Amino acid sequence: MRVCVIGTGYVGLVTGASLAHAGHHVICVDNNEAKVKLMQSGQSPIFEPGLSDIMQSAIQAKRLEFTTDLAAGVAHGQVLFIAVGTPALPNGESDTRYVEAVARGIGSNLSGGYKVIVNKSTVPIGSGDWVRMIVLDGVAERQKSEAQPILAGVSGDKGITTTALVGEYDFDVVSNPEFLREGSAVYDTFNPDRIVLGSSSDRAIALMQELYAPIVSRQFAEDPSAPTVPVLVTDISSAEMIKYAANAFLATKISFINEVANICDRVGADVMQVAKGIGLDSRIGSKFLQPGLGWGGSCFPKDVSALIHTADDYGYESQLLKAAVSVNQRQRLIVIEKLQQVLKILKGKTVGLLGLTFKPDTDDLRDAPALSMIENLVRLGAKVKAYDPIISQSGMRHGLSDVIVETDAERLADGCDALVLVTEWQQFQTLDFGKMATLMHSPILIDGRNFLDCSALEAAGFRCVGIGR
Ligand code: NAD
Repeated sequence: MRVCVIGTGYVGLVTGASLAHAGHHVICVDNNEAKVKLMQSGQSPIFEPGLSDIMQSAIQAKRLEFTTDLAAGVAHGQVLFIAVGTPALPNGESDTRYVEAVARGIGSNLSGGYKVIVNKSTVPIGSGDWVRMIVLDGVAERQKSEAQPILAGVSGDKGITTTALVGEYDFDVVSNPEFLREGSAVYDTFNPDRIVLGSSSDRAIALMQELYAPIVSRQFAEDPSAPTVPVLVTDISSAEMIKYAANAFLATKISFINEVANICDRVGADVMQVAKGIGLDSRIGSKFLQPGLGWGGSCFPKDVSALIHTADDYGYESQLLKAAVSVNQRQRLIVIEKLQQVLKILKGKTVGLLGLTFKPDTDDLRDAPALSMIENLVRLGAKVKAYDPIISQSGMRHGLSDVIVETDAERLADGCDALVLVTEWQQFQTLDFGKMATLMHSPILIDGRNFLDCSALEAAGFRCVGIGR
């Protein structure tokens, strides 16, 4: 099938490369010329395990192309994915200006033949009809400029439909939210828990089912004999809501265990044992019960804020989600408080951060807890150093200021008054903590993820402080 993916970030590039790997002919469009040049040369602009391999093999098979030319992508694709960013505005609302620009661009370049326009970006509830409207605006603007007659709009049962015919143009809008996790995005694309398709058009759903058939049948899955992937077909608004509700639930679950951890700290219980004890209950499950310094990244904060904002817009105060956010904000200060308890005055002290990215196996720093930690430590007069396996090697410093990025863990430890484990990179388990302890002013380690073995650290000469234990 011919596919166009617009926006080649963590979602768009992984989607495009995976669909090409699965046998489709994909053109990826991005308006960032430097990024497109890099991808044309077979290189991935992001760090994502397995991505470069599938990109290179699909490029060689001539099933994956990259361009800045939206018109060429739109002309090529039977299915057009919108996968641009939807960051948060200062008031928490989702900033949909990039989606709007792409939808308008699709409209003004739409050529003949039926097409399905897919919202892969996480967009506010109601965006399906809104995207359809913007695409039609784009078509109308082009036709106006070409001074051609327009036959616009087709009414459905509620006076509105996702199918639109403007002259010879015929398209539907589908919501297909993405659930991949950065750090395992390629794996998640080929091994999804479910695929959600929101549309009222049988024709569009049939095309999407055909597109995803190789993934649904587990052709590229780790276990090809696993049951087929459940495909949930819903109306557009429900599909859009599923994405927000899933992220809001996971963020709330983390805030919940962090709240329990803080109570454990006070009463002398061990949150790790508590998490295990409740996680074994099949109604609760053990995932997302890892206490730490709070959730971050490019999705949870903005998606929870956007859902709270949508609820507000419709006259409902989302008290539970607001509490999850405020627990998370407080959690980011817990490590600072722990540092103050052991070091007393932070002014003039040197603190080393192990890890910068918001989670392991990614280079993404968007809304990483490390960033607010750096800001708070600097505000309190501390000097901050950091070592991150990806950021330190790649030279990616975007969004980083007030921190000295060291090239290895021992340089990081050198002269530090305390270390804080911020990101649970697997390689941190095997660092030479004995040597690092000898390089520090005072060998103190705050384990912000309860990831390291505290007794082994103590044997190596460290004073080790965890969260909720
Ligand atoms: P990103 O910021 O990494 O990538 C967005 C890309 O779109 C960039 O390469 C940018 O250059 C490009 N772009 C912007 N405007 C464009 C335009 N007019 N034409 C062509 N390209 C344009 O974003 P992301 O992290 O991949 O997220 C994309 C969407 O997917 C967001 O809505 C996000 O909420 C959602 N999502 C993200 C994840 C994740 O883990 N990152 C997971 C699920 C859903």
